[in-house]
Amino acid sequence: MTIVNNETTTKTLTHFIGGELKAGKSDRFGKVYNPSTGEVTALCPLASKAEVNEAVEIAQIAFPAWKNTSVAKRVEVIFKFRNLLVEETDRLAEIIGLENGKTLSDAKGEIQRGIESVDFAINAPHLLKGEYSVNVGGKINSYSIKQPLGVVAAISPFNFPVMVPLAMTTMAVACGNAVILKPSERVPNSALYFAELWKKAGLPDGIWTVLNGDKEAVDTLLAHPKVAAISFVGSTRVAEHVYHEGTRHNKRVAAFGGGKNHMVIMPDADLDQAVTSFLGAAYGSASQRCMAISVAMPVGKGTAEAFVAKLKSRVEELKVGAYDDADADFGAVISQESKETVIKYINESLGEGAQLCVDGRNPKISETEKGFYLGPTLLTGVTPDMKIYQDEVFGPARIVAGVNSLDEAIQLINEHEYGNGVTIFTDNGAAARKFTEEIEVGMVGVNVPIPIPVGYHNFGGWKGSRFGEGQMFGPDTVRFFTKTKTISERWNNSKEIENKTEFSFPSNK
Ligand code: NAD
Repeated sequence: MTIVNNETTTKTLTHFIGGELKAGKSDRFGKVYNPSTGEVTALCPLASKAEVNEAVEIAQIAFPAWKNTSVAKRVEVIFKFRNLLVEETDRLAEIIGLENGKTLSDAKGEIQRGIESVDFAINAPHLLKGEYSVNVGGKINSYSIKQPLGVVAAISPFNFPVMVPLAMTTMAVACGNAVILKPSERVPNSALYFAELWKKAGLPDGIWTVLNGDKEAVDTLLAHPKVAAISFVGSTRVAEHVYHEGTRHNKRVAAFGGGKNHMVIMPDADLDQAVTSFLGAAYGSASQRCMAISVAMPVGKGTAEAFVAKLKSRVEELKVGAYDDADADFGAVISQESKETVIKYINESLGEGAQLCVDGRNPKISETEKGFYLGPTLLTGVTPDMKIYQDEVFGPARIVAGVNSLDEAIQLINEHEYGNGVTIFTDNGAAARKFTEEIEVGMVGVNVPIPIPVGYHNFGGWKGSRFGEGQMFGPDTVRFFTKTKTISERWNNSKEIENKTEFSFPSNK
């Protein structure tokens, strides 16, 4: 994907450092595509080590003044930023659609969820309050405060160009940090647009940086002594690398990885509701969501037959199309390479004995021959030993893997590498309780297709879906982007306190 800048027809993008758009100096660029047409629309600069160092240096200089700005003033800027996001929703949706490929209505949903995390950051004055205890001993008062970390970095994936960066960075800004966002080099334009909006909202220069780049930029941030924390969202293998490298360099790291999310369908479930829920949660965004349902797991042969009988025709009716096609249920996948990977998974699973119930490998698309389109594929008879069951498949190939009992479903899901999201469809409260209690997954739904928590609850998977303990949404974000200091103080204005050295360990008696 790295090329020399010898293309004149496409726009060359920049970084945003110290409050200014800055041209890349590395002479390395990534291609940005319009997945709906397959055309290259822009060249994204890939930062060198020297550019990363420069950006960190500038952020480090800007940090103290922002830290010392009252939280009320900081939040005022965030409030203005939030209103600009609302005003600019159509423009942002267009940016997302053009370079990610998802439909405009899906993009608007993503923006709405992103704004939720900005709304939550407006609560920073309350969330940053410390604790205070009077007279813990000998006229001593003790209190704790939360202070920002300094320069923090966020590294984001291609599939949520707006929601994920907003969730990763806004609370960090509210807490008084200087933030460097390294967006996915495949979708850099919304981050650059945020920079414009932050500037309009009055954020001081250097507090919000967009550093475009690839592995070189990420690895430089991971090793940089002045970067205090790393928030990462992306695929599991890279999340693992980021976690190990970041913690090896003594940084606080929260690294969110991929998912393989199951939907368990019990014999008593409302099958029409289960089918309707599965369609949107499984194929929405061309299945390029970390919380997308990948596996339908009906319990019992009869449930599986009835579920697939109802599902098949509904899947066949789904329409893939360009991001601005109002009739499309979902858009193209991110790249030709991604399209080929998904087809390979389908073909391999057929060789391993899966059955093709709906074939989306060659969709008929009128818009353009060159877009990265895949229709909806449904495979039945999938078993846990197949690669298509084990790996995260980031495209619209979904599978049905039946089991004989709820216990078997729980065991298989618990044994799976990933533990991001899961859901159960049932009318049986006891089954639902057993499931929510025993399942080894971070975000669990009961008759809810995509159990993504709202912005004021914590978000995060288990097992191979998350490394480190930090969170992306919710109150834990404040803990992640601040460090707690506990102060014990005594103001000795009388002679009541003995002026005597104590050598025994201080106690409050
Ligand atoms: P990715 O891992 O390829 O890239 C994510 C980021 O890491 C990008 O900014 C990229 O530049 C950088 N990167 C890529 N390879 C790297 C390397 N070798 N070393 C250092 N940095 C590297 O992920 P993607 O394809 O952009 O996004 C899709 C993935 O993200 C899926 O696996 C999806 O499940 C996951 N995701 C997870 C969540 C979550 O909350 N758990 C949310 C959204 C997406």
